[in-house]
Amino acid sequence: YESLSVAELAKKLHREPSELIKKLFMLGVMATINQELDKDAIELICADYGVEVEEEIRIDITDLETHFEQEVSEEELRERPPVVTIMGHVDHGKTSLLDSIRNTKVTDGEAGGITQHIGAYQVEVDGKKITFLDTPGHAAFTTMRARGAKVTDLAIIVVAADDGVMPQTVEAINHAKAAEVPIIVAINKMDKLSANPDRVMQELTEHGLVPEDWGGDTIFVPISALKGEGIDQLLEMILLVSEVGELKASPARSAIGTVIEAQLDKGRGSVATLLVQDGTLRVGDPIVVGHAYGRVRAMVNDLGRRVKDAGPSTPVEITGLNDVPQAGDRFVVFEDEKTARSVGESRAMTAIQAQRSEKQRVTLDNLFEQM
Ligand code: GDP
Ligand code: MG
Repeated sequence: YESLSVAELAKKLHREPSELIKKLFMLGVMATINQELDKDAIELICADYGVEVEEEIRIDITDLETHFEQEVSEEELRERPPVVTIMGHVDHGKTSLLDSIRNTKVTDGEAGGITQHIGAYQVEVDGKKITFLDTPGHAAFTTMRARGAKVTDLAIIVVAADDGVMPQTVEAINHAKAAEVPIIVAINKMDKLSANPDRVMQELTEHGLVPEDWGGDTIFVPISALKGEGIDQLLEMILLVSEVGELKASPARSAIGTVIEAQLDKGRGSVATLLVQDGTLRVGDPIVVGHAYGRVRAMVNDLGRRVKDAGPSTPVEITGLNDVPQAGDRFVVFEDEKTARSVGESRAMTAIQAQRSEKQRVTLDNLFEQM
């Protein structure tokens, strides 16, 4: 249970800090606006505001967000692979491109590694890894961003050279811009006789994506996902753009990240694909994932192999959770199972509470009016 400043608590209670200071004074506590309040003081105020408020505060305090802000020293930081999302209009070749990259470049020296679908995969180019999110449509941006998760470092926007910019192309550009993620344009279907890359570049210029040759700073790569042409150049450009971004993480810390997808499996129970965004996730780690919790029982990588640990930017499928989380949910590893359980349970309660929140807010407002 963390501490809160007077100002933070006031915000959570939708009250003026001055009012809280006054209330604290009445309760015999001298406080300033930036003063940190301990658990006892928080509970004192909450009790004074009514039981419902106390519950809401306790839930807020156990928000997973707070566990994201671990202090990390500069020396711990290491380069991490970029996480890439492929977006574009329907039928412009997103799935074909993902397949083409995966078939030619899957991270594995050993032949015949059976790839399985876990919602994300990694490839290796010039000894450097790239993680691709393989979620359907714009899910990576829409569902996850709606839940406040930022998972993507770079967006590939696929535009079919024979079709040009279409409504979902523009939508994709807007998503990437809103997320402040760099964009690389892949002009696909270059093998087609009707391919007209100049037109694509012209049209995209109108949306602020200007090719380098025309004095802009957007990288355009002509490809044919079908024939596997231009894929190597595209991957090299991804690495180039990623290097500029200086993506870093600390493999030494405990893991945090986001749910890519999750479902209930008949035999294995709750199965979740997690993207480790920082730290290293290990088998046996006590973990809270959204409203679910447990211990990481088994981990499987994108090649379907059992692994014992997963570092930054690695997608893994895990089992061992008591419930099925949702895409975009955060996960945090805790030091011990007891804490994980209590945070998990508290968050599960939030879920139930959230359904009643509208009603409850009215109740709280009424309560405040009386005071
Ligand atoms: P998505 O809807 O963006 O995932 O598009 P798909 O990957 O499913 O591709 C839609 C159609 O375009 C399929 O019939 C593909 O075979 C075809 N296609 C994809 N890439 C290429 C390409 O580079 N060249 C040609 N000629 N066809 C392609
Ligand atoms: Mg598709």
